Amino acid sequence: GKIGVQLELPAKLPQRNAATGGIHIDIQEAQVQFGELEVLRNLNLSIPAGQFLGVVGRSGCGKSTLLRLIAGLETAAKGTVRFDGAATSGLRPDVRVMFQDARLLPWKTVLDNVRIGVPDGDRDKAREALALVGLADREKEWPSVLSGGQKQRVSLARALAGDPSLLLFDEPLGALDALTRIEMQQLIERLWQERKFTAILVTHDVGEAVALTDRVVLVESGTISHDQSITLARPREKDSSFAHYESLIL
Ligand code: ADP
Ligand code: MG
Repeated sequence: GKIGVQLELPAKLPQRNAATGGIHIDIQEAQVQFGELEVLRNLNLSIPAGQFLGVVGRSGCGKSTLLRLIAGLETAAKGTVRFDGAATSGLRPDVRVMFQDARLLPWKTVLDNVRIGVPDGDRDKAREALALVGLADREKEWPSVLSGGQKQRVSLARALAGDPSLLLFDEPLGALDALTRIEMQQLIERLWQERKFTAILVTHDVGEAVALTDRVVLVESGTISHDQSITLARPREKDSSFAHYESLIL
């Protein structure tokens, strides 16, 4: 399996945005294509530092491609991606991605999997991250004995252990049962509120995006077709003013 950004870590992490802990992302006129297929075109999106952004859209509309572009795993044919004003390309050490499958290494213990996310493999930092997700007592276990929800917690701990300024979630809860999903949603929301990183959640579940995020954008025809802030206080129930998003996706 591919671990993506998590295995390629430089020794030193850059300074985080002191005010918010997060990073400001500014995408201008981005175009990404695979051969003849233009997946993203003229896409403009500015995400303030510390915002929790939801990205929704039909399957195949380019949500994962957008996340991969932001993560530096995809290159724009045209346009720019700026982090705190600086144009970037390639992987950044302060960006972490969480996928639908936990992508744990089966030959490493839970603790050693989390240590992959820490630049120098520091055990204490890894233990601290495991405690944050409620798995402090499972550090010596093999991934194979964990439930799907626990594996995703370990994956989240690995992402947090590097103290990211940007955390990208690509449908991370899609494979979980309903109850585990709600527990994980609450955990992600709490950690985001405590840590103040910028977060982007890709999901086909509009209700989940509305429950968790500050602002939901819809990707359609390779670009952002709708962009709406959420004004309800947390914790929140589903916001009925987003009903039109559902009808555009389903
Ligand atoms: P989503 O995450 O919204 O389901 P994706 O971003 O994964 O959509 O994919 C958008 C489109 O780009 C799809 O048509 C998909 O088949 C295509 N695509 C994604 N990655 C590649 C790739 N590496 N090579 C060729 N086509 C790709
Ligand atoms: Mg996808």
